[in-house]
Amino acid sequence: MLKVARTVAEVRAFRRELAKQGKTLALVPTMGFLHEGHLSLFREAARHADVVGASLFVNPTQFGPNEDLASYPRDEKGDFAKMEKEGVSIVFAPAPEEVYPDGEETRVEVTGITQGLCGKTRPGHFRGVTTVVMKLFHIFQPDAAVFGEKDYQQLMVIRRMVKDMFMDIRIIGAPLVREADGLALSSRNSYLSAEDRENALGLSMALKAVREAVQAGTKDVKALHDIGSAVLAGHHLKEDYLEIVDAESLRPVEVIGARPVRALAAAYCGKVRLIDNMGV
Ligand code: AMP
Repeated sequence: MLKVARTVAEVRAFRRELAKQGKTLALVPTMGFLHEGHLSLFREAARHADVVGASLFVNPTQFGPNEDLASYPRDEKGDFAKMEKEGVSIVFAPAPEEVYPDGEETRVEVTGITQGLCGKTRPGHFRGVTTVVMKLFHIFQPDAAVFGEKDYQQLMVIRRMVKDMFMDIRIIGAPLVREADGLALSSRNSYLSAEDRENALGLSMALKAVREAVQAGTKDVKALHDIGSAVLAGHHLKEDYLEIVDAESLRPVEVIGARPVRALAAAYCGKVRLIDNMGV
């Protein structure tokens, strides 16, 4: 049975009981409106601990003033049913006041790696993410936590926070789950009209074009960028960024060399901002 916890105290009581039984816990943080991508994280989590816990919280502090906090899709009942089916034992689904009872005076911020890519367009976004994830880690005290490669920069930011703060939590990255045609699964895809949905495919196609060009021998990053950009434009997608970066530091690379690189992109499909990324 899935336990629905609305308060920090309930999660702590659950965690104490687990500790008594000598059981380990893996946490999967989510904002809900679950799809197969999220479900794959629950399955991954189950491979790393005795018990899987989740959070369902649309965290206000990671949204900018002109972003989609108010309209973010929600389906709490449906999400609980999916969690139950996947064998999640506890979900923390708090009201914002439970997580921020005294406002947001204490913040957790990773610098450097948060400055480029999504950090440029969404100032303060990653500070909101690291602040809430730090809170969730302290509430759940998980042995491991699973994050999707869909949000590749987020995964790297969290890895960095955990490393720098000597937190004893194993961070597990899970592969990006796509629709059959290549579109990365996202709760925000529910915003797309049928026509937008066609155009949205251009995002993964742009990244595939970059990957194929790399495989065909193109090493110049500017040339690679232009190849991807043209695919975005061809699908009426407004490029936010399309960058080829070092897969770990996320710093831009100029020439493809020996180290692993990754192509990351964000684009507007109408008003909807979508992100995707691929190893190249
Ligand atoms: P969200 O609910 O969008 O905050 O996402 C919660 C977690 O699910 C994050 O770790 C995401 O990276 C992960 N996630 C979202 N979409 C996908 C996907 N298509 N494939 C794999 N993981 C995903």
